[in-house]
Amino acid sequence: MSERIQPVKGTHDILPEEQGVWGRVRAAATSILPLYGFREITTPMFESAELFERSVGAATDIVEKEMYTFADSKERRIALRPEGTAGVVRACVHHGRVRAQPLDKLYYLGPMFRRERPQKGRFRQFHQLGVEVIGESSATLDVEVIALLARLLAACGVARVELQINSVGCPICRPAYRAALVAALAPRATELCDDCQRRLTTNPLRLLDCKVPTCGAVTAGAPELIHHLCDACRDHLATVERGLTELGIAYTVNPRLVRGLDYYTRTAFEAIAAGLGAQAAVAAGGRYDGLVEELGGPPTPAIGFAIGLERLVTLMDGGGEVPPLPLFVAPLGEAARLFALKLVEELRGGGVAVEMDHAGRSLKAQLKRADRLQARRAVILGDDELAAGEATVRDLATHNQERQPLAGLAARLIAEERP
Ligand code: ATP
Ligand code: MG
Repeated sequence: MSERIQPVKGTHDILPEEQGVWGRVRAAATSILPLYGFREITTPMFESAELFERSVGAATDIVEKEMYTFADSKERRIALRPEGTAGVVRACVHHGRVRAQPLDKLYYLGPMFRRERPQKGRFRQFHQLGVEVIGESSATLDVEVIALLARLLAACGVARVELQINSVGCPICRPAYRAALVAALAPRATELCDDCQRRLTTNPLRLLDCKVPTCGAVTAGAPELIHHLCDACRDHLATVERGLTELGIAYTVNPRLVRGLDYYTRTAFEAIAAGLGAQAAVAAGGRYDGLVEELGGPPTPAIGFAIGLERLVTLMDGGGEVPPLPLFVAPLGEAARLFALKLVEELRGGGVAVEMDHAGRSLKAQLKRADRLQARRAVILGDDELAAGEATVRDLATHNQERQPLAGLAARLIAEERP
């Protein structure tokens, strides 16, 4: 035997037994998203690396350490997409949708790629269901989008989630806050981890959500952006809070909630789930009023979120049970097998799920297999039966059986299975 080929580290297979729960996520998405006016968009899984450098931001973990980049044959720098928003916005700008439709509500579902240290809830290829609304700055839209997230999670049976919100300010108030933060932390720079020492100059807000405990201790008393917001950002946050309260959506304000991505403005939110361990965020999102312009479109506000589907499905009940099979066809002998082949094709053509034996097994072995497939009835085709122009149809639960003429058998079985 040759040596086995291992899967690439950080990737995983979704086996047939697990597809049920993924199907339920897709079903929840396709039933709920249209209620809010969302339509699906599919963008490429690879893009020019520059797209993410400009949108996600060069000084973020994603671009600095996590992106899979490679040069194609023309030495163009390509990246596997690490997230969905950049591609969606690029597509909207490219196709002139930003102007054509003031409020574009789009969703996507697909794989993302990040070179992270694999661990529970953290993969190198994972899936996100995300939404983007492009063209509206009002805080009540933020509430609507958060309500959509809550409804999607509830539809997947995920109830124990804490919604955290914050405001990350805007280009008017953030620079002064950033300066205040750096001034407060610079004297203690040597106590910070290597990453945070770098972040202090490149992306100081990211210091606030560093998972290293010693960094947490240093930043514990740091100034909070929520106390440095300009009037407009403060009003915006107040409206979001009022709206959530109005809808009965419980939330907490987490002043340390920052987004790793530079294009976020104002509202930022995360859904934190009990039962996920260290990787507790099942979804994250927020406003990104600066991104469309950054990617060459007209200045256009926008908001979105992404749900991490691997984390979501671990919170859902398995439900990977195989549906019972209506019919199993058991041919005994070469001639019967050819007849069976034609019969199962006719049955499938009539919309009936059916399987047959191809291996010339004994009747006993075939019925055992039918049992394992949870077949309700078996059609037995033996030499006697064929000679008499009949088949035996056996109910596998009651063991009642009857002989039926082969003529018109498929049509009768279809009529019985699909009345
Ligand atoms: P984290 O803090 O867990 O690294 P993040 O801030 O990098 O998350 P986002 O870029 O906001 O995550 O992505 C949104 C969601 O996608 C996360 O809340 C999470 O559920 C999921 N996600 C992110 N990275 C991974 C990964 N490597 N493997 C599986 N799911 C992921
Ligand atoms: Mg991350």
